[in-house]
Amino acid sequence: MIVFIGLGSNLENPQTHILTAINDISLLESMTFLSQSSLYQSPPMGPQDQPDYINAVIKIDTHLTAHSLLDVLQSLEQKHGRVRKRHWGERTLDLDILLYGNEVISDERLSIPHPGITERAFVLYPLAEIDNDISVPGKGIVSTLKEFCPLDGLKKLEANTL
Ligand code: ATP
Ligand code: MG
Ligand code: MG
Repeated sequence: MIVFIGLGSNLENPQTHILTAINDISLLESMTFLSQSSLYQSPPMGPQDQPDYINAVIKIDTHLTAHSLLDVLQSLEQKHGRVRKRHWGERTLDLDILLYGNEVISDERLSIPHPGITERAFVLYPLAEIDNDISVPGKGIVSTLKEFCPLDGLKKLEANTL
């Protein structure tokens, strides 16, 4: 299954968390890394008294079910020392499943497509950078969705390595 994962971090050198997480994912036997967006910087959603975020999106191929993939991604968040404090609060690493093929999943653990895709510039612009023609089930094509989504202070970073 082709899957897009959104990464975010705003604590303890966020760029390092994002790049090492991408590297960790590329080394997992349960998935094949296919491509990645640039790194982006974005102002926080929700509580404003927290640092800006570094974001990226990656594309992978995996045979894992969406729920098994979520287990793997949540253990990676833990490995990066994620501590839950407040809703949409600061974190060392957030890994969200944006798209799982063309599947629509809605249960107590998963909402796929990720409900934030259409209104979050830090998700939509990196997705479009990987492929403008990605289809979001029930919503449309990312290039079209982008037209209705203001940048909201999103900045593409020039340096994408450590
Ligand atoms: P948001 O999902 O709005 O970006 P968040 O990423 O801060 O918020 P988390 O604290 O990382 O939210 O996750 C809370 C719960 O969201 C997880 O325990 C997980 O079960 C659930 N969840 C639902 N849909 C998804 C998804 N597509 N990807 C990752 N987690 C999801
Ligand atoms: Mg999130
Ligand atoms: Mg999350």
